Amino acid sequence: MRKKIVAGNWKMNTTVAEGVALAKAVAAKSAEVPANVGLIVAPPFTHLVSVAEALKGSKVELSAQNCADKAKGAYTGEVAADMLVSAGCQWTILGHSERRQYYGETDAKLVDKVRLALDNGLGVILCVGEMLEERKAGRHFAVVTEQTENVLFHFSAEDMAKIVIAYEPVWAIGTGETATAEQAEEIHACIRKVLEGKFGKEVADNTTILYGGSCKPSNAKELFAQPDIDGGLIGGASLKADDFIEIGKSF
Ligand code: PEP
Repeated sequence: MRKKIVAGNWKMNTTVAEGVALAKAVAAKSAEVPANVGLIVAPPFTHLVSVAEALKGSKVELSAQNCADKAKGAYTGEVAADMLVSAGCQWTILGHSERRQYYGETDAKLVDKVRLALDNGLGVILCVGEMLEERKAGRHFAVVTEQTENVLFHFSAEDMAKIVIAYEPVWAIGTGETATAEQAEEIHACIRKVLEGKFGKEVADNTTILYGGSCKPSNAKELFAQPDIDGGLIGGASLKADDFIEIGKSF
C-alpha cells in the first residue's frame, strides 16, 4: 500500500531560531498523527542541521526545498545532494512551481537533480502543476502529463519507490484558492494512469501523490478522502504547528 504523507514547505520563511522552535512544536505533537501517516518538514538550507537536531526522536523527517543539478565544484550558491544528506535530510522537494517560474528550473535540469538526489539516497518530492492560463485553455491534463513524462520517464520502476509526486496547481498556491476535491482527484488519477502506462499498475498503485495549493485544516479532510490523493504538500499552513498537525490528522 502506498504511504500517506503530509509535508510542510516552509519556503523562505523563519529565522533559524524560529524554525527550530517550529520544528520542536511539530515534533512534540507528531505522535498525535496516525502511525501510517508520514510527516516531513522542509525548512530553508540554513536551518537544516539545527532542525535535524530538533526533530531527533520524533517521526518527523527532514527535507530540503531544492538541490543542485551538479554533484560538486565551482557552482557558487548551490547546495549538492550529498551535502543535504550530511545535514540530516532524508528528502528533497524538486521542481516546485516557484523554482520553475522564478529560477528557470526546466524539466531537463530536473532529470539531473532527481538523479543526483536518488544516487545520494534522498527521497524526492517532485512537483508538477499547471498555470492558470493553461487551465483556462483546457490544457491542464496535457501540461501535468508532459511534466510527469519529461522527468520521470528517465527513471526506472525501482527509482519510483523513492519518488513522491506533488500535484500543485499554480493558481492555488498561496492564493487561498484551493482546487476542488474533484479537480484535484481527476488530475491525480491522470498522473497515476501516466505512471501505469510506463511502469505498470503495481508502481502506479504504490506511488504517493500529494495535493498542494492552499491546503489547510478546513479542506484537508475532503481532499484526502479522494481515492488518488495520498496527502498534501503544505505551504502557508505548515508554518503553524497546530495547523500542520491537524492536517496530518485529516485522513
Ligand atoms: C506550496 O507552495 O507548496 C504550497 C502548497 O503553498 P500553499 O499551501 O501556501 O498554497
